[in-house]
Amino acid sequence: MALFYKSTRDPKNVVSASQAILQGLAVDGGLYVPTEIPKPVLDFAELAEQSYQEIAAQIMQLFLPDFTQDELRDCINQAYDQKFDDPKITPLVKADGQYYLELFHGPTLAFKDLALSILPHLMKKAAQKNNLDKEIVILTATSGDTGKSAMAGFADVENTKIVVFYPENGVSPIQERQMVTQKGANTFVAAIEGNFDDAQTKVKQLFNDENLRSKMAQNNKAFSSANSINIGRLVPQIVYYVYAYTRLIKTGRIKSGEEINVSVPTGNFGDILAGFYAKKMGLPIRRLVCASNQNNVLTDFFQTGNYDRNRPFYVTSSPSMDILVSSNLERLLFYLAKEDTVQTKQLMDGLNEKGTYTITPEMKQGLTDFFADFASEEETAETIRKMYEDADYVVDPHTAVASCVAEKYQVEEGTALPTVVLSTASPYKFPQAVLQAITKEDTVAEGFAAIDKLQRLAKKPIPAGIKELEHAKVKHQSKISADQMTHYVEKVLDLQ
Ligand SMILES: *Cc1c(COP(=O)(O)O)cnc(C)c1O
Repeated sequence: MALFYKSTRDPKNVVSASQAILQGLAVDGGLYVPTEIPKPVLDFAELAEQSYQEIAAQIMQLFLPDFTQDELRDCINQAYDQKFDDPKITPLVKADGQYYLELFHGPTLAFKDLALSILPHLMKKAAQKNNLDKEIVILTATSGDTGKSAMAGFADVENTKIVVFYPENGVSPIQERQMVTQKGANTFVAAIEGNFDDAQTKVKQLFNDENLRSKMAQNNKAFSSANSINIGRLVPQIVYYVYAYTRLIKTGRIKSGEEINVSVPTGNFGDILAGFYAKKMGLPIRRLVCASNQNNVLTDFFQTGNYDRNRPFYVTSSPSMDILVSSNLERLLFYLAKEDTVQTKQLMDGLNEKGTYTITPEMKQGLTDFFADFASEEETAETIRKMYEDADYVVDPHTAVASCVAEKYQVEEGTALPTVVLSTASPYKFPQAVLQAITKEDTVAEGFAAIDKLQRLAKKPIPAGIKELEHAKVKHQSKISADQMTHYVEKVLDLQ
């Protein structure tokens, strides 16, 4: 049976993979999920001999059947090239007893590059396939890394524009500098007074704003999304789970078919959801460890079945996970509800209206694929310091959260299975937090002085994407309230 995509909120809303990529969010407000999860016969021993790009071609073909093998290879070759400073694309490194899958070797030094360097190419092909001659406008809220990564991917891509909103005080200084210096005449960035959830909620409203939609149509433009709600982002992320597993085979750490655990630093639940698809596809993962920081709404959800966003919001050292509404959880709810769209919609309505919902005991039984816990700020810093001292390996705060929670899981379950920790950002993106953790000093060097100091500790070259920031010109300086976002969009898009 051919694979299509259907909305989590309306079973009759069924589209092709390329249409799902173009739309991002379904018009009924739901998220697109595959009509079935492919269950290929995976020959891991054979995959272990293949490159990242070759594995990507096979996995992505399963989920994007209306793209030809040539089209996919074309997209893959344009995405995973010299932009990545390691030919392996996502090298697997052993340190302190765990395996770290380094997902930060792309142009903006965060794992988002794995998906966002290929999404513009997938979108361009998808537009051609559907004879869409409209200009595609990417509208994105970012907790720090998506914005830069998406702009880097879409900058100067013909017939596209990209508008990014980030929380004014919610991103690291390096993340902010990466965004405000972004080149490309088609890129627009504004800081929002408020936190990530404020920006994300408003972006979702803009997508569904009838008035704005019709103005867009009149001006021959259409919105799409580069957030992880777009399946064009999820699918490329499934690839590196398979890649990591096969590298463990290649290096003799496991035999084909043996189980592993994977620990994922989680915010919007996109990365870990890709792992869920990999597991359902047949990758031998025993548990997906859902690691949160002090904003531990997901930990509570997995432990109690109750999701409640009515709680204090903390600004932490791992800002890309400072999120109280994890959008992609809707897809998991849909599966937990045995694909019942009415039940899924009711839960999401509860979240919109009251900021909370509780799943049924039957749904809760489906959570066994996961283990969830969180790391406090102290535990995160302690993990960074310990890894530096014991293994001479410097990790960023997001990775440290996942590493810390992976250990909690191993202790609690008494498991000795090999564990892959997803290393989602380069420590050079968060030099101050990392320095503070290692030196235990409250005041450490700032800005580029911090980067130089970190370089002396890490003994690894400063990535080009960081070096070039020092002298890059600031090109964007809008600061607006969430209420002004509609106006901002109309202005930069010149909507009449
Ligand atoms: C986005 C991000 C995360 C969280 O990933 P989700 O897919 O939103 O769960 C974790 N770490 C870093 C560095 C990120 O940029």
